[in-house]
Amino acid sequence: MVKHVPLRTCVQCNQVRPKRGLVRLVRTPGGEIEIDERGKAPGRGAYLCRNQVCWENALARDRLDYALQCTLRPEDKQRLLAYAQGLPREEARSVEAPSSGPPAGEPVPGKEKGTAATLES
Ligand SMILES: [Zn+2]
Repeated sequence: MVKHVPLRTCVQCNQVRPKRGLVRLVRTPGGEIEIDERGKAPGRGAYLCRNQVCWENALARDRLDYALQCTLRPEDKQRLLAYAQGLPREEARSVEAPSSGPPAGEPVPGKEKGTAATLES
């Protein structure tokens, strides 16, 4: 038996995932932005990965405004960001440069000593 798994696309990273791996956001008929955990609320919906990074990026780039065809208010964004804090954080890129920089030790001797330039015009 092969169950049909509903797939949805994240509006931020465009990855197609099983619906359960995403969080639905909905613009209700009343114009409110809601996090729709059950995925059944009426209104225009958009999906984001269960990944903090996607949420942050989506909010930073106004991807949700576009997807939901409305303008998110600052308080909406704050609420969504607060929600995102509870999501796992997966870096989209696996490029992780190990920080092997030189220790920032030596203090630079003051080159410019208080040159109180008196401007004469
Ligand atoms: Zn995503």
